[in-house]
Order: sequence, then structure tokens, then C-alpha cells
Amino acid sequence: MSVIDWRQAASNLNLRKQAFIGGKFVDAVSGGVFDAINPANGTTLAQIASCDAADVDLAVHSARKAFDAGSWSRRSPTERKKVLQRFADLMHQHGDELALLETLNMGKPISDARSVDVPASANTIAWYAEAIDKIYDEIAPTGSGALGMITREPVGVVAAVVPWNFPLLMACWKLGPALAAGNSVILKPAEQSPLSAIRLAELAAEAGIPDGVFNVVTGLGETAGKALGLHMDVDAVTFTGSTEVGKLFMNYSAQSNMKRVALECGGKTPHIVMADCGNLDEAATAAAYGIFFNQGEVCNAGSRLLVDAKIKDKFLDKVIAVGKTLTVGDPLDAATKLGAMVSQVQMDRVLDYIDIGSKEGAELKSGGKRVLSETGGYYIEPTVFDNVSNKMRIAQEEIFGPVLATISFSGAEEAVALANDTIYGLAAAVWTDNIDVALSTARRLRAGSVWVNNFDESNITMPFGGYKQSGFGRDKSLHAIDKYTELKATWIKIRA
Ligand code: NAD
Repeated sequence: MSVIDWRQAASNLNLRKQAFIGGKFVDAVSGGVFDAINPANGTTLAQIASCDAADVDLAVHSARKAFDAGSWSRRSPTERKKVLQRFADLMHQHGDELALLETLNMGKPISDARSVDVPASANTIAWYAEAIDKIYDEIAPTGSGALGMITREPVGVVAAVVPWNFPLLMACWKLGPALAAGNSVILKPAEQSPLSAIRLAELAAEAGIPDGVFNVVTGLGETAGKALGLHMDVDAVTFTGSTEVGKLFMNYSAQSNMKRVALECGGKTPHIVMADCGNLDEAATAAAYGIFFNQGEVCNAGSRLLVDAKIKDKFLDKVIAVGKTLTVGDPLDAATKLGAMVSQVQMDRVLDYIDIGSKEGAELKSGGKRVLSETGGYYIEPTVFDNVSNKMRIAQEEIFGPVLATISFSGAEEAVALANDTIYGLAAAVWTDNIDVALSTARRLRAGSVWVNNFDESNITMPFGGYKQSGFGRDKSLHAIDKYTELKATWIKIRA
């Protein structure tokens, strides 16, 4: 579709603005609202219900009631599968609309929203739907006097608190396994990007998910998010967001009912290029897309480029050249590769880091500025620093923008030491033509995902999550089911 078609489609949208609790759209109890902003031009798209503890309480009550009633939690896995498959089909059918909501609300290029976010989200729901009636429980090797059953049960009421960078996909990484396993879910989207989540709830209801099983509370982190974290009747929190807020959820749990917490937090991914890398053009393209995709607003963005000093200058020239081909512009234009930063706050934060990098003595090689300010939108050009030391703030702190910090090293030993010298451990990548270097480096990197001779390739069959302060617990793959199930040991004596 052309930019004109997308704009037309945007003007025809009927935006849902309320929370979705117990199968109904509702205003916040307080009547409060907050603005959903279009970061491409700074205008207000809609005023959204600003939920707080009172609304969270209603949502938890409704989720618990549905869970206890068993209309979902005790339905057979095969029946849940059918409903979730319908849900995934509806997401595909409404793909243009969901992509548009995502782009309008958080600024990512519509071509990515349509070809990556929406299909990956729908496929996640479909994959867990397909999986759930193929998972067997266990019988323990007890001997003849007893039957030891090890069964999985849904954990109960799950709160899913998600960020704004992939609003739909992060929600579906939680919803897929949580709903498939029979839980009731309360989704809290980020306040910057609530629109797609609200529409998702409506599609879920249309697919046949019973009232109360899937609720959406829209609201601010410090009110709605905190109330979920502290609620005495939430059994588990599944969170994706910053490390700082992740730690708060551990506190909330400790202060309340010791609810389970699973955290997917920040990252500072090292992207290592060894001197023997045989295809520097391919690696340079991967390095550029690895940091500039989604405006750099990616938890596993390859924000630290570690390059062997022997090839650094040549390699960096190639990365910069690729960066210059990436058009920054209107997210509704199919030619755009970098859209708008999610908010003015985020844009200012990234510009501050660019300033900090220069003041710390790093060399700004490319980009570094806000662009297209006449649109009222929050755009930043692809930015590359050279001569960065791993001790600098731009090498240690998560910037969450299109800013690459290049650090040189001599040999694999130093590369691994630098790569691991971070509080984070979400992902890492290494490019080399030597199989021994590839395997030994991959083993020594302290990160939940490691890519060899590629960057960020994966699919739903692989787990995703962090080491160290990138969090714990895993999204995606069958391992994600562990977060949403309890293990019950039932020992039955056999008297005969
Ligand atoms: P954030 O931590 O500010 O917000 C995440 C969610 O937490 C939002 O829904 C927000 O409303 C809520 N929240 C904020 N403050 C809260 C509080 N005091 N109490 C309770 N809830 C609160 O993160 P963000 O800015 O939305 O997203 C960016 C962060 O997400 C980055 O750090 C990024 O690395 C991380 N992220 C991680 C992954 C991963 O899988 N590891 C994926 C995507 C994003």
C-alpha cells in the first residue's frame, strides 16, 4: 500500500480507548485518561482510560472468577487449541489494522509492522495453540506400591506487563503460552503504546475466549503496573521492560504475596567481528541492521560493535555506508527504514547519550542529530561512534536508540573479556570463519542467545531470555510453558 493508502486507512480507524475487563470495554473507575501520541508528528491520537488500583482490582477479580469457573482453565487442551487458532486467524485477517495501530502509536516503519510484528505475533499464538495438546505429563518411577503422577496445572491469574518497542509481539510471547496452558491473563501495555493491545482483546473475545480470561488494563506503570505487582491475588507476573522496573517487580512480589516473577529486561549486546571473518560485507550489513532496525529500540540490539583492530577501519566504513542507505522518514512510507522514536522523552534521552559519548571522548563518525523536526516527529539519524572504550557510559548503559559504539580488540581472548564486561547478558554475536573460534567463543559468551555468522536470526522454536541483569525465565519455545504452570506431585498408594 502507498503512504496515501495507509493515511486513508488511518483516518478510517475506529480507535478503541477503554480498558477491557470481564469481556467488556470500560472506562477507568476514576474517569481518568492519558494521551496516546503519534510520534511521527507529535499529535494526540486518542485519550485512553487511565486505570489504577481500583481497575486492577476489578480485572483481577474477573480473571480469578473466570479461572475458578473453569470455562477456560479446565477446558480440554484440544478445545483451547481451536479457540486460539481462531484468534491467530483473526489477527492475520486484521493484519493491516493491527500493523497500522502499531505504527501510528509507536513510530515503527509500517513495512516492518506488517511483515514482521503482526505475522510473528499471530504465529506465536498459533504455535502455542498447536503445541498445547501435544504435551504429556509424567509418571514417576516409583515401584509397584504406588503411582506417582507429575502433572502440570495452570498457575492461575497471570499479569503480563509489556514495553512499547514491540507492543503486539511482546504481548503475544506472554499470551500464547499463558492462555494455552489455561490461565487467566491481565495484559498491561506500556502507556506509550496501548492501542494494539486493546484491539487484540476484542479479537480474542470474537475468537471465543471467555469473558474474564483475557483482560487489558491500560494505564501508567506507577499506578496500573504497580497495582498488578502488589496485588494479593495475582499468581504470577511476566514482565518485559527495563532492568530498573524489573527489579521493582521483585520488590512488589516480596512485599505482597510472593507471586512468581519472570523478567525479560535490558541488554547491551556485543556484536563481535573476528579478523578472519570471511564475508565482511554480510557482517557489516548485519551490524548496521542489528543496531538500526526498529530505530535501535530493541532489547537485543547489537549496540556494542567489537571489531578486531586489524580490520576495524575497513569494516567500520562498510557499516557506516550501509547506515547511510537507511532512510529515516514517515513510518507510513514503505521506503522508510527508520521511523520515529517512540516519544519525545525517548528521543531526548538518546540525544543526551550522543552528547555524553562525545564528551567522554568517543569519536562521532556518522549521524548524531535529530532530523525532520519540521514534521513535529521524533526522528534521529543512524549514529556511529568509533574509538569507544568499554568503560564509557555509551558502552555500558542501554541507550535504546540508533547509536552504535565501536570498540576494537586484539584476538579472541580480549573480545570475549570485553563482551562479557557488562551487567547485561541478553544476547551476543560472533563472526568468524574458524569453527573452533566460533564454538569456543559461543560457549564463553554469558548471554541467553548467541548468533554465529548472523545476527538476530531465530524463530518461535528457540527460547529467548537473559543471563545476569537481563533477567530470568524464558519466552518462546516450549520452555515458556514452565512460567505459566505449576508442577503437582500426586502420590497414590496401590494397596492390592
Ligand atoms: P519500562 O521498564 O519503562 O516499562 C515496561 C512496562 O513496565 C510498561 O508497561 C510500564 O508501564 C511498566 N512500568 C513502568 N514503571 C513501572 C513501575 N514503577 N511499576 C510497575 N510497572 C511499571 O520499559 P520500556 O521503556 O517500556 O521498554 C524499554 C525496555 O524494555 C528496555 O530496557 C528494553 O531492553 C526492554 N525490553 C526487553 C526485552 C527482552 O525480551 N529482554 C524486549 C523488549 C524490551
